[in-house]
Amino acid sequence: MRVLLVEDDAGVAGALAESLHARGHPVTSVARGANALHHHRAADLVLLDLGLPDLDGLDVLRKIRAVSPVPVIVLTARGDERSVVRGLRLGADDYLTKPVRLAELLARMDAVVRRAVARATPADSAGDVVRLEDVEIDLGARRVLVAGHDVGLTTKEFEILAVLAARPGTAVSRQQLMDEVWGDAYLAVSRSLDVHLTGLRAKLDRPGLLTTIRGFGYRLGRD
Ligand code: CA
Repeated sequence: MRVLLVEDDAGVAGALAESLHARGHPVTSVARGANALHHHRAADLVLLDLGLPDLDGLDVLRKIRAVSPVPVIVLTARGDERSVVRGLRLGADDYLTKPVRLAELLARMDAVVRRAVARATPADSAGDVVRLEDVEIDLGARRVLVAGHDVGLTTKEFEILAVLAARPGTAVSRQQLMDEVWGDAYLAVSRSLDVHLTGLRAKLDRPGLLTTIRGFGYRLGRD
């Protein structure tokens, strides 16, 4: 896969680019956030450092996400949960704390690209529409209508709802939900899930349709 590496530490960037190249991944390396915004369209995956000389990496991420679904893995020296959660909420697909272990990086690159491909070609859900009362969830078109009106869910709100809507009336554990929406990064986003669920419930505006099962998870659809 073509990798765009956004990293201002020349030593780290050089070593990483060389290792990825040796495993068959062509790498374009840039040191500045502004350059990342010019090159991400030619990449299959972006590796994004957060501490950049010109722009905050999270701003770079926000700008890329505004125009592109390209998978992004955040490389962060900041191990603190807040940056990581913000990154994931802004649409990062995964994150790794530096120093990066190559085997782990390669595994996560494969995983996020696999998920991105599955998102782009929802063969099993194309044309599937789940209807619960006056809520219509179009899994293929990624659109949710409540009483005929598009409620404008964010990407994550939709993905959470889609996981639940794939098994209406069935309890889905919190861990399974996080795992399906965030993959391996789920450990960091437990509180972030609550934020997305709050937003989702407010937009659906159908109390009781999305039930919390205490100590376990969630269920879409009434008993
Ligand atoms: Ca840096």
